[in-house]
Amino acid sequence: MHPYNYYAPENINDALGLLEKFGSKARCLAGGTDILVQTRGGRFELDAIIDVKNIPELTKVEWTKDHLLVGSAVPCYLLYEDEKVTSQFPGIIDAASLIGGIQIQSRASLGGNLCNASPSADGICPLIVHNTICVIAGPKGSREISVDQFCVSPGKNVLDEGEFLVSLKIPLPNSGFGAAYERFIPRNEMDIAVAAVGSSVVVDGGKITNSKIALAAVGPTPIYAEKASEFLLGKDVSEDNLDQASQIAQDSCSPITDMRGDVEFRKHLIGVLTRRTLDLALERAGGN
Ligand SMILES: Cc1cc2nc3c(=O)[nH]c(=O)nc-3n(C[C@H](O)[C@H](O)[C@H](O)COP(=O)(O)OP(=O)(O)OC[C@H]3O[C@@H](n4cnc5c(N)ncnc54)[C@H](O)[C@@H]3O)c2cc1C
Repeated sequence: MHPYNYYAPENINDALGLLEKFGSKARCLAGGTDILVQTRGGRFELDAIIDVKNIPELTKVEWTKDHLLVGSAVPCYLLYEDEKVTSQFPGIIDAASLIGGIQIQSRASLGGNLCNASPSADGICPLIVHNTICVIAGPKGSREISVDQFCVSPGKNVLDEGEFLVSLKIPLPNSGFGAAYERFIPRNEMDIAVAAVGSSVVVDGGKITNSKIALAAVGPTPIYAEKASEFLLGKDVSEDNLDQASQIAQDSCSPITDMRGDVEFRKHLIGVLTRRTLDLALERAGGN
């Protein structure tokens, strides 16, 4: 393994200074459950690992008037052990409580899951359907981008050299909001999704006034299924409409065949999981 130095800056400016100094030879470390495995496996030859967990903005969970701000290095267990977060952000909790196992969840963050940009990442679809915004720090100041635009290809994200993810800004849900995330794996746990879906709805007077559906492990990045989401807008909650949305989601993915599943199986799974997560999201929204 290529030797590297470990740094643990205590504020955003010091982290930016280190990223500028080491350029492409530096990587951030949140929980380390991806980066340490990858570094030991020889995927990167780094000179610097920058542990971001001493930076207050990256490790706090903060409620504002309109948002829940989750620091990018907050470990999953801190989210699902918080009753208020659990009750308001069910789709995100579905994912936070299934990533790896308990040991992994005590370290792994949603920020790290997102920055790692795996097509099968469990944390990204729920963030998409909860309309999450990424808050990014960089040498030119800070900027914000929607999570559905953050991943660009397998393992690649929109961060420019010198930038890093500070926090995830999740809008507080409207009344009538519900969300859910489900994946298919051949084992009970500790496996990579063969296909997965996150769905959210807002229901008002029996009609779906807002909806988002996102798909994992069926394309080069997690996919916001725009057509399927928009199909549901203004529609009644009915078996037929939910089935049609699931079919549209199934048609909008582009999976590959590999040892874990072929194209046909993955498309079938997307149809089934879309319907299941819509049903659960509706139940959580207070519908039936
Ligand atoms: C046994 C095991 C089981 C796993 N199971 C699952 C699973 O079921 N589902 C799943 O989705 N994943 C799983 N993973 C992968 C991993 O645990 C998750 O992706 C996790 O959420 C990564 O978070 P982390 O905080 O550990 O990230 P890290 O490893 O610290 O970082 C991941 C990547 O993001 C970058 N990064 C981290 N923080 C920032 C930042 N603030 N700004 C910019 N870049 C940053 C790092 O440089 C690195 O490239 C598993 C891993 C292991 C080892």
